[in-house]
Formats: sequence, C-alpha cells, structure tokens
Amino acid sequence: MKPFAITQQFFKDITDLAYPSSCLGCGTPLTDSEKSLCINCLVKLGETGMHKTEPNEITELFFNKSPIIHGCAYYKYIKGGILQRLIHDLKYRGHPEIGVLLGTIAARAIKKSEIFNGIDFIIPVPLHPRKLKTRGYNQSEKIAEGLSQVLEIPLNTDILFKTYYNETQTKKHRIQRYINSQNLFSVKYSPEHEGKHYLIVDDVLTTGATLESCINEIKTIPGALVSVFTLARAM
Ligand SMILES: [Zn+2]
Repeated sequence: MKPFAITQQFFKDITDLAYPSSCLGCGTPLTDSEKSLCINCLVKLGETGMHKTEPNEITELFFNKSPIIHGCAYYKYIKGGILQRLIHDLKYRGHPEIGVLLGTIAARAIKKSEIFNGIDFIIPVPLHPRKLKTRGYNQSEKIAEGLSQVLEIPLNTDILFKTYYNETQTKKHRIQRYINSQNLFSVKYSPEHEGKHYLIVDDVLTTGATLESCINEIKTIPGALVSVFTLARAM
C-alpha cells in the first residue's frame, strides 16, 4: 500500500469508529445522508405515540406512586427487534452515538407535540461512578444529549447521583431486591434549583422502579416538578 493509501485507510478507520459506514441495525452500507442507521431500519422502529396522548401508560403508571407532569416512552421495545439490538449496542458494545441519534429523532417529534415545553433541566438517570468508569459513558446521558440539543433545554448531571452500587440485576434475593428499590439515588442542589421543572431521562422503562426512585429524590427539592422521558417501553 502506498503511503497516501495508508493514510486514507487510517482516516477511514478512525471515522468508522465515530460514524460506522454500515447500518448498525441491518449491516447494509450507509449513504452519505444516513448516520449510524439506514432509513429502512429507522422506519421499522415502532413508536408508541405517547407524546401525542396524555394521560398515557407512563403518566398512569406513576399516577398512584409519584405523579408526574408529563411522560413519554417513545419507542416500543420488542424482544428480538431492531431497537433491542441497538440498545444492546448502546449499552454494552461502545456505541454512545446511538443514544444521541435516537434521542435526537424522538426530540424532533416531541418538539411538535410541545409536551416538554417549560422544562428547565434535563436529568439523565445517573450511573454509579464505578459503572460509569467501566462503561466509559452513561447511555441515558447520551439519549439526554440528543433531547437537549433539539429541545434547547440544558442538560444537568450535577443534581442527581447514584449512591448505591447494585452489582448484578439478575442474581438478587429478596433483601437485595428491597435495597435495590430504596435510596438508590441522592440529590445535591442549591436555591436556584428550587421550583424548577425537571425532565428525567432513561433508556428502557420496564417496571418503573428505578425511575420512581429518581422522581422521589428530585421531588425532595422544594417546589420541584417532574416529567419523564424514556427511549423505549418494554412491551
Ligand atoms: Zn439498516
């Protein structure tokens, strides 16, 4: 290989790391206008339509536990579907750009519905520092970045913290299960954070236990209002 070709290949490899040249959903080569996902895969991602309907499943889910102002789980998370694979890539295979991309797409649709108008801060569900260190990034923060860019609402990662480190979600007995749903998070705030409207962002909504802990923690800030966005709803 000539030196020029080597350099070209080198830059292509570097670019591929940031922006893969084939679709992360189906593996077909991407066109210049497509980023990370091809148009066919994008249209296959099923929306829940919750951003256009309130009350919806999410607002109802928290209604009796810890009421929220607005709530939306944007995509349907179906076992074996493209979204499951994408979220796996986002969480475990070093593809933070998927989070930003899907957050951006969802935010464009949500912007039209205006449900998140009046939000002061976007807060991603935090990871424990130890987990953040091993993963290298917080997948919920990546989704939140996409929302923040489109909705033009500041992202805040200095208020809500993960305090309890739950080693594994799969092998836990009853006592651990209890600990897992209590005091997982803590808040640090100053007077300027009082009376604000917060949007908590997570990747996939399953039981809502983690989000409930976050909502309750944010609500310890005097006058705080809380809304919720998750990229997907487990079906
Ligand atoms: Zn594709």
